[in-house]
Amino acid sequence: MKATFLGTSDAQGVPRLLCTCRGCSDGKINRTRSSLLLELDGSKVLIDVSPDFRSQFLRELKDIPDEILITHTHYDHVGGFGDLIDLCFWNRKLVTVTSPGEVVEDLLVKFPYAEGKRYMKFNRTKEHKIKDWNITFFKVNHGANGFSYAIKLSKGGRTAVYMPDSFNLEDEQLQHLYGTDYLIIGTSYWDEQTAIETRSVYSTVEAMELVQKIKPKQVWFTHLSHDPAFLAHDLPDHMAFASDGLTIEMEV
Ligand SMILES: [Zn+2]
Ligand SMILES: [Zn+2]
Repeated sequence: MKATFLGTSDAQGVPRLLCTCRGCSDGKINRTRSSLLLELDGSKVLIDVSPDFRSQFLRELKDIPDEILITHTHYDHVGGFGDLIDLCFWNRKLVTVTSPGEVVEDLLVKFPYAEGKRYMKFNRTKEHKIKDWNITFFKVNHGANGFSYAIKLSKGGRTAVYMPDSFNLEDEQLQHLYGTDYLIIGTSYWDEQTAIETRSVYSTVEAMELVQKIKPKQVWFTHLSHDPAFLAHDLPDHMAFASDGLTIEMEV
């Protein structure tokens, strides 16, 4: 399976607007809001439609995906949905948007004109299939921000999980991660000491502890803020920070 990171930032993007920190002002690192493009047996599948969808489309996407999967409806994950609606309409391309019922309903509250559109089909489910791929949405805690869904993709005994927004998972949620070969997990900061009730996404340090437990073969960190600490640390060989435009191959 081929996957391309279209966006790898937290909700604010990197550089942050008006931020005077060294990382944001030297202009070396640019990250757009998180989104992942998958190629599953010839189908182009987009996970989340970030507010930067338009620039990601011009930069890498180049074509309308066949299927859309949505993790949750926070602005940084669906802010570009209006652009997608228009793009499908004007190009007469039907796309299927799949997510659990509660997520689709909330998406339609935010974009009420989407439902009647001829070129957009909504699929309210936690279990989906694209070619030979089984796709499962499982609910994960998103701390002070409520909940999100993680997306598990499996085929032929291999599994990958995309989990950009999660924090403090319960044992029952962790069960979905055991046996995962490839994990893409959001970590907004390298380390975070702020009060637990204010937090909403794992830190890299916490995610590495999680990785010790679930032992995936390969891990990528995404949903990254401007935190300069990311640059100051080396990661073990089987872990990496994702960057916009990075394409990875997963042996499935
Ligand atoms: Zn997010
Ligand atoms: Zn979120």
